[in-house]
Amino acid sequence: MIVIENGLVLTGRDLIPEKVNIAIEDGVIREITTEKISSSDKIDASGCIVLPSFINAHTHIGDAVAMDEGDGKSIDDIVKPPNGIKHQILESSSSKDLIQSMKNAMWDMLDTGTTTFIDYREGGIDGIKLLEKASEDIPINKIVLGRDPVIFDSEASDSEVRSKLKKILKHCDGIAPSGFGEITDETAKIIVEECEKQGKIASIHVAEHEKVQKDSIVCTGKSEVERAVESGFKLLIHFTHPQKRDFNAISSIDASIVCCSRSNGTLSVGIPPISDILHNKINILLGTDNLMFNSPNMFREMEYALKTTRGYSKKYLSPSDVLKMATTNVSKAIDIDSGIIKEDCVADIMLVKQLSKNPWLSIINRTESKNIICLIRKGKIVYMR
Ligand SMILES: [Zn+2]
Repeated sequence: MIVIENGLVLTGRDLIPEKVNIAIEDGVIREITTEKISSSDKIDASGCIVLPSFINAHTHIGDAVAMDEGDGKSIDDIVKPPNGIKHQILESSSSKDLIQSMKNAMWDMLDTGTTTFIDYREGGIDGIKLLEKASEDIPINKIVLGRDPVIFDSEASDSEVRSKLKKILKHCDGIAPSGFGEITDETAKIIVEECEKQGKIASIHVAEHEKVQKDSIVCTGKSEVERAVESGFKLLIHFTHPQKRDFNAISSIDASIVCCSRSNGTLSVGIPPISDILHNKINILLGTDNLMFNSPNMFREMEYALKTTRGYSKKYLSPSDVLKMATTNVSKAIDIDSGIIKEDCVADIMLVKQLSKNPWLSIINRTESKNIICLIRKGKIVYMR
């Protein structure tokens, strides 16, 4: 049993700071108490904040092999399948290089306090297997959303699509097509149905930039968000350019949004309306999106999201709300029993030096990798500094 004592612990869903001690056993948080707990294995967290380790809710880890390529080109030139710069580089890279770059990215995540990531994995079953191989010896929790090329084939029959999806779902945690520009509404519905049958995740990019929303409305009379909601997707990525009625659409099915503020900034497509999303009581998570143009560092993502949102909305956004987007909000979106410090939860925890009196700002505004004193994944110490 590991005991963490004397720390300022951000507890529960709302990350309330409390001076409590934590006992961890068999990978799980057994006890949270103000009393002393006896154990021979103690971590002294004096001067530290103890918080859930981060969950990066949206990555494309495969394109870590193409870091900083294509800067300045249009979003379609860089990432649109199948001929974007990203796809050309992926196509021409060796498995060895792809695996090594994914390994480096996962160690980067651990180094910056992330123990779970939700990845959009391209390349069908082979692509999933590459990530399996890359993560073999790395103590990180990966949630892999795959895709089969059949979803882009408008000639494929419904039964063909279903059978390919069933096959790929044996290898991954869900399905994530890129967006409505590449698939039909029928295919979208089949994806959600097949995922739901198996209790898996169906996710899609929506409203990333103005043009995709406009194109969708011109072609179908509906926004990308409305089509995603009608299809039943519960995990929507971006939502950078919603229409007013998109907010109600999302609320009606209790979907969650993953905002990727730095990605939107890099691609010059806008700033996600985080204040308005919160105002509409919609659950928000944060993701760092393509490794190609962003490091998977959630400290950077939180700081950028906090400050661009305040600047853009001209309203106060509390740092505790932003920290929740990187930790406890995830359990409202997907079935996961970590990301929150409460009894019986998986012990995915980090200790960081407290650098200012405000614990949430100390984390978002001040903390760097070097300030992470200890990272714990499933009750095991990943590193101690
Ligand atoms: Zn993405």
